[in-house]
Amino acid sequence: MIQIEKANHVFNMSIFNAPAQFCHSGDIIKFETMDCFSNAFIAEGTEFGVDNPKNTNPATGPLYIYDCQIGDTLKIEILDIEVGEVGIFVTGPVNALFENYFERFMINRIKVKNGFATLPRNMDVPTRPMIGVIGVATDGALSTGLPGIHGGNLDCNDICKGSTLYLPVFTEGGLLAIGDLHALMGDGEIGECGLEIEGMVTIRVTVLKGKRIASPILETEDFIEIIGLGSTLEEASQNASRDMLDYMIHELNMSENDAAVRLCLCGNLKICQHVNSVKTVAMKYLK
Ligand code: CA
Ligand code: CA
Repeated sequence: MIQIEKANHVFNMSIFNAPAQFCHSGDIIKFETMDCFSNAFIAEGTEFGVDNPKNTNPATGPLYIYDCQIGDTLKIEILDIEVGEVGIFVTGPVNALFENYFERFMINRIKVKNGFATLPRNMDVPTRPMIGVIGVATDGALSTGLPGIHGGNLDCNDICKGSTLYLPVFTEGGLLAIGDLHALMGDGEIGECGLEIEGMVTIRVTVLKGKRIASPILETEDFIEIIGLGSTLEEASQNASRDMLDYMIHELNMSENDAAVRLCLCGNLKICQHVNSVKTVAMKYLK
C-alpha cells in the first residue's frame, strides 16, 4: 500500500509544492500525520510559549493523483483513522470568550487508549477521531490554517471514518494533503483546539472526471453535508444552505418547492468552527 510519512508535510496548500507521493484513481493511501503542534508538546515537561513550533497545522503530503485535472472532483473515502496515545488540549486566553477566565496558557496531556479519552476528573469519554485539515492545492498558496472551497482547515467533526469527502480540483494531480487530527472535538471548536493528536489516516481516492462542485461535500449512508464558508457565521450559514438547495435541485432532481420543504424540515445547520478568520458551517441533510 502507498504510504506518506509524516516527515513529508506542508504548511500551505500550493500548486508549487512538490508531490511527496503519486497514486492512481482508486488507490488506497495511508497518511501518517503529526498533531497540529508538530508533536511539540507530547513529551512531558514541554511548555506552551517556550517550546512552540514555528508553524502549526502540518499537513502530510501532497499526494499527486494521476489523470486528475482542473475541473474534476476528488472523491475521498475515509476508510480509517488511527490516533496516538497522547492528545493535547491547550487552555488559555485564546480568544474573547476565554480571556476572562485564563491568564496563561496550559497544556493538558490527555490519555487516549482503546477508543476512550480520559478527561479531567478521570472522566472517560469515547473518542470520535476526525480530520481537521484535508485539502487540495490552490494557486493562492493558502495556509493550512485556513478553510476554503479547496478544503483545508475545515474542522468539521463529521469528517471521520466512514464518511466520503468531495473536493473540487484546482491543479493537475490535485495535490492532496491531510493533517490536524482530533481524537475528539465539539461542534464550534470554541477553544480554538480539538483534542490534538498524531495518527494515521487511510483513504481511497477516486477522480470524478469533469464533475464540478461549488463547495466541499461530505456524504455517508445517512446524510449529505455541505460545508459553507464565510467571514461571518451568518454568511457561512447562507452559503451552506444555498449550496445544499442547489444540490437537491440539480443533483437530486427535486423541484424548488420539494427541495425547500425537505431542506427546511430535514436539514440541520451546524457550526463546524467559528474560531478561524474564515468560518465553516455545515448544512446537514438527512437522506
Ligand atoms: Ca483545525
Ligand atoms: Ca486542530
